[in-house]
Amino acid sequence: MPPSLATAEETGLSKDGQIVVTGAGGFVAGALVRYFHDRGFTRIRAVDKKPLPDWYQRVPGVESLSLDVSQEAHCRRVCEGAVEVYNLAADMGGMGFIERFRIQCLRSILINTQMIEAAYQAGAERYFFSSSACAYNTELQKDPQSRALKESDAYPAMAERGYGWEKLMSEMFCQEYWAERGLKTAIARFHNVYGPHGTWDGGREKAPAAMCRKVIEAKDTGRDSIEIWGDGTQTRSFMYIDDCTQGIDKIMHCEELIATPINLGSSELVSINDLVSLAERIGGVKLRRTYDPHAPKGVGGRNSDNSMIQRILHWEPTTPLGEGLKKTYAWIQQQYYDRKAGKRTVRDVA
Ligand code: NAD
Repeated sequence: MPPSLATAEETGLSKDGQIVVTGAGGFVAGALVRYFHDRGFTRIRAVDKKPLPDWYQRVPGVESLSLDVSQEAHCRRVCEGAVEVYNLAADMGGMGFIERFRIQCLRSILINTQMIEAAYQAGAERYFFSSSACAYNTELQKDPQSRALKESDAYPAMAERGYGWEKLMSEMFCQEYWAERGLKTAIARFHNVYGPHGTWDGGREKAPAAMCRKVIEAKDTGRDSIEIWGDGTQTRSFMYIDDCTQGIDKIMHCEELIATPINLGSSELVSINDLVSLAERIGGVKLRRTYDPHAPKGVGGRNSDNSMIQRILHWEPTTPLGEGLKKTYAWIQQQYYDRKAGKRTVRDVA
């Protein structure tokens, strides 16, 4: 296996090498902890500022710490003995959150500056940063039929104000820690991730989870309509969580991608109207659509150009949206009825 195609297992990362994952009480990092655990890694330190009972997933046998990693002392503790650091902690959410709470999003710079310095000081071998498609120039995303974004489209920079600029600056830290100090950094620009064990209500949820929940609610309450933010023509691509965790592993262990931002997303472009139709089909209903033109709707169109990831990793996210959304819908439906029955469910408490 050429080194550029390897995962943690294939590069020979020792099964008892210390792995640190931040943001582990949330969606993607929670799944990443499970991913490494299931592959036999025995020293995983999972970290999130949420109290442990509020974590979306808790993986047995994993050291789980409730600490705020925007604070230097906590970051030093978190990175002790680390071989690999995966920093996914961020104050974030769907468009409803990032357009409204720009200061909170910008303040994630504290997490990323403290974590990368602590990882470097601890002598970590590799450092992963979860960037976002929101780092791309918004001028290129006005039209629903905009061409897919390639990695060079981040500059000249005109990122999403707040969340996107924070990601761009943190990417730059990763690049300079490699250039000046030799820390091997990996930077993936995620395009919308969805799947079970993600936020599904409360204001931070993304469109796939929101649409599933709205269909489930409508069916349960007998409502015959569904509200859509914007006019429904906005386009996006959505990546299933299992593709995301696998992609993180591959990107982190690819020598050719050190300090090089790369898209990690699906290239299956759909409109929000298509997404609603899919959720309706899974739920077996047809609802009347109402549109809220004043609601946050983000850019007009955004897709992931996957030529670079195909060329370098000979791989890309491939789970069809219909398949992934079916699993997500089933999980949200279970959550919805569990909550109704007074059982404990995933809840955004931030
Ligand atoms: P999430 O909100 O589910 O998880 C993030 C976690 O970080 C939360 O549990 C939160 O409590 C934790 N956190 C926030 N501030 C912290 C702090 N100071 N100290 C410790 N923990 C803190 O979000 P997610 O969807 O899992 O996103 C993970 C990463 O991927 C984030 O960096 C996000 O910006 C990036 N990303 C996600 C998507 C997506 O579609 N989910 C898209 C692009 C980028």
